[in-house]
Amino acid sequence: MRNRDLIVALLHRLTRFWNRLRRSPVQKAFESQPTFSSVKTFESQPTFSNVHDLAECRRIEASLIDSRNRFQSLFEHMGEGVALHDLVFDDADRPINYVIQAVNPSYEAMTGFKTKAVVGKTADVAYGVAEPPYLEEYAQVALTGRAIRFESHLPPLNRHFSISAAPWGERGFATLFTDITALKRHHEQLEWLAHYDGLTRLPNRALLADRMRQVLAQTDRNQKLLAIGYLDLDGFKSVNDALGHEAGDNLLIEVANRLRDSVRGSDTVARLGGDEFVLLLAELDGIEDCERTLARLLAIIAEPYSLAEREAVIAASIGVTLYPLDHSEPDELLRHADQAMYLAKQGGGYRYHLFDPERDRRTRAQREALTRIALALKQDEFRLYYQPKVDMRQGIVIGAEALIRWQHPERGVVPPGEFLPLVEDEPELAVAIGDWVLTAALRQMDQWAQQGLRLPVSVNIAARHLQHPEFVNRVTALLEAMPDLESGQLELEILETAALEDMAVASRVIRECRQMGIDFALDDFGTGYSSLTYFKRLPVNVLKIDQSFVRDMLDDAEDFAIVSGVIGLAEAFQRVAIAEGVETVEHGLLLLQLGCDLAQGYGIARPMPAAAMPAWVRDFQPDPLWEPVRNLRWSRDDLFLLTMTVEHRRWIKQLAASLALVVMDSGALPTMDTRDCRFGRWLHGHEGQRYSEIAAFQMMSAIHQNIHELGKTLIDQHRTGQVEQARAHLLEMQELSGQLQDSLQALLMIIAKPQ
Ligand code: C2E
Ligand code: MG
Ligand code: MG
Repeated sequence: MRNRDLIVALLHRLTRFWNRLRRSPVQKAFESQPTFSSVKTFESQPTFSNVHDLAECRRIEASLIDSRNRFQSLFEHMGEGVALHDLVFDDADRPINYVIQAVNPSYEAMTGFKTKAVVGKTADVAYGVAEPPYLEEYAQVALTGRAIRFESHLPPLNRHFSISAAPWGERGFATLFTDITALKRHHEQLEWLAHYDGLTRLPNRALLADRMRQVLAQTDRNQKLLAIGYLDLDGFKSVNDALGHEAGDNLLIEVANRLRDSVRGSDTVARLGGDEFVLLLAELDGIEDCERTLARLLAIIAEPYSLAEREAVIAASIGVTLYPLDHSEPDELLRHADQAMYLAKQGGGYRYHLFDPERDRRTRAQREALTRIALALKQDEFRLYYQPKVDMRQGIVIGAEALIRWQHPERGVVPPGEFLPLVEDEPELAVAIGDWVLTAALRQMDQWAQQGLRLPVSVNIAARHLQHPEFVNRVTALLEAMPDLESGQLELEILETAALEDMAVASRVIRECRQMGIDFALDDFGTGYSSLTYFKRLPVNVLKIDQSFVRDMLDDAEDFAIVSGVIGLAEAFQRVAIAEGVETVEHGLLLLQLGCDLAQGYGIARPMPAAAMPAWVRDFQPDPLWEPVRNLRWSRDDLFLLTMTVEHRRWIKQLAASLALVVMDSGALPTMDTRDCRFGRWLHGHEGQRYSEIAAFQMMSAIHQNIHELGKTLIDQHRTGQVEQARAHLLEMQELSGQLQDSLQALLMIIAKPQ
């Protein structure tokens, strides 16, 4: 048992004896003993009268004397200070004070109150205070018999005590004082160490967390900005290595002092460890305010230090995030500041970098999306759709292009444009998806072949995939696994040729694949950077004319020129041209006339699930519009007529656009001069006059004249406010335009040569 507990137990025992004695014949013997300090022995006490059982009495007496002696000895020699008190009551029997009945030497030594000065006095007098200390608590102890323990700091002594109070006597109490000052100090020291950095005496991570919580709440209230800065010294390690650890420590102390002295009292500078510090700069008025402070801090740190009798210079990098612009949790704010600090370092150090929450949000969203895409691959959520490719001249299906789709459990069918671009910078995932596509397409071809449908399939291959060292081996293995597939059934469409880093490698891969019977197409031809270089240097056999040119070729002369140019290029280099994005049968017709027989696009069929393909192939019929031109061809000179169709369409489109406006823009109007429009110039020039003997040409010339006349009328009507009439007449114009195009087609049919 510890000393204090022992005393309390003894006090209890003594009190029990006291009470028994009060009821016994020896009572009187004690009534004359006011304090323990004055009790010496029982021998001097008067003898007892009316004692019936003297032996019992002696036994009690001996036991009591023994107890008292033990207590006496303990009382006087114990290290704890003890004081015994009796409560003092007013007339209404309310405790109003207490009298100090006895104190032990330790009490005197601990508290400095002399025994003589306090014993026999009431507490207020003894201690020279207005209110007896802890009267209420002590009265509770004395009256209820329940001991208490508490700690108290006595300011005049500047010492801490643990005080136990236990009931004593009838209406008294004993207090036991233990000096816990050393313990307290030790505790405080531990507490300090738990919150401060021993070297720099700056708050450490734990206290920083505390301060951060406070200052965040404060910032929420005051609507200002709080900068959370992460500061790291540039090249601290080399100073440490060159000048030694002690100098390194001194440098850290000096940096800490400079930082502490340079910020406001309400700001916090903390050290996380090593050469990493955190700054909390509160109540900033704006970003400029923050930047000014940061620039100042950087300059202050960069001033020379004298270390190990040498002058040293060191700089710092600071990463900063601003709350509440960055409305994150404390830990995350620190992480953001840390990230920004790394960017400051990457930027060369001796600078600050502000964290950009918006950019971070985007990066995170992208990372999440990538994780989801990788999961989609794992969970087999990708599908291949197939878009038929046809030969319009022969009226047959020549194959299909495999196009990836994501069968998303919540979003439904997601097109590749929404997820493949995200994968571009993730080589592993991109190649894994590419492999999946290749495998799935080959399996599908195999399956179709077993159903009796031999359908060549083209697969889109990202440039990065093509350049993968394992690409050829992988394709070889896949083909070998499907011996039923005939060679020449697989075609690969190379995307983003600009991403081909090494033309020699790409050429070799293509050549090796072509030896296995695989065809190669340059996809989206004409859009990429230096398409022609790739076309010339890569051993591909097919050019896919990009859909953006094809789509607009009907009324955009430039796009038409590009499409017809690519067709000519393919012809000249003996390659095959295929047009994608053939949205209408008219597109098909124009392409056929230009000599491009192969096409793919919504005007023929949209991409469809694999299961729908066999029926579609079986039921395919070429469009009747293509029929008349199937067996015809034109010389390059005659094809110029097609350009004129496009020119004319553009003229009509331009006029319609102008009339649709409330106020016409004269600058945007097509020319009304019959000899000045491009069609007119051709018509009246020697190119057109070659056909002047042909009736269809003469008719065309007359219609052209009418169109211009009507055009002038429409413009006049619009100018004079008859906007509605002008717009109504536009239908008439469309009709004339149709006639003009029909006569152009008629002329084309007349001058065509058989295939
Ligand atoms: P792409 O290889 O040029 O494929 C043609 C795209 O045009 C397809 O879009 C197709 O649905 C669409 N298209 C076809 N005809 C028409 C038409 O008449 N009008 C219009 N407006 N569009 C038409 P999709 O399937 O969304 O694919 C877009 C691109 O994504 C593809 O362009 C290709 O670059 C890429 N892609 C698709 N599947 C794969 C794949 O399995 N692997 C890789 N690496 N890329 C793929
Ligand atoms: Mg393609
Ligand atoms: Mg394409």
